[in-house]
Amino acid sequence: MSLVVYLDLDRTAYNTDLSGRLIWQEIANNFGVDGSHEYDRQRQFYVYSDASYAYDLSAHLLDLGLSTDSVYGYLRRSSLADGRLEYSGLAEFVLWVRGRGEIKVLTYGVDDYQRLKASLCPSLNGVEIITTLGSKAEYLANKGEVWLIDDKFMANDLPPNVRFLWMLQDGQDAAGRDACRSFADAVKAIMALQ
Ligand SMILES: [Mg+2]
Repeated sequence: MSLVVYLDLDRTAYNTDLSGRLIWQEIANNFGVDGSHEYDRQRQFYVYSDASYAYDLSAHLLDLGLSTDSVYGYLRRSSLADGRLEYSGLAEFVLWVRGRGEIKVLTYGVDDYQRLKASLCPSLNGVEIITTLGSKAEYLANKGEVWLIDDKFMANDLPPNVRFLWMLQDGQDAAGRDACRSFADAVKAIMALQ
């Protein structure tokens, strides 16, 4: 049977913790704002849903009177798009899955900001990006036999058609649970269970 993998973006494929400050530095360098001050007030632009919360960079930019098209366009052409914000092994993993089926990104958050982050990952070029402010479990419930790889532990919340791989890219304690530490681990785990 063909492999279908849904890959989380933040902290699974994309180094979110590194990106926040770098994005504001880059905006500061070009658009004349105080990057560290703006970074520190990101919380003012969180949006909340039943499932979680997410940062709305577009709302933050509009609050500063900046054009989201200009800033996002600038960031997409900047050095931040050279692959430094994606985790290593992502390119190989995308190719590996594509050789056996399909890979899509399923990410929680505000659509345009999530698409910006995905576009800063060269290895995700051409990969379908699905954004939601709802529940991933509900989204995946009618998708047939699929895999979900996510840094948020969701094994107990998913419907039975979803196989879950927990990805801990940054060496956090797995507290006795099975976790992948890299995309190479994810390949081994899928091969063992497919
Ligand atoms: Mg995540």
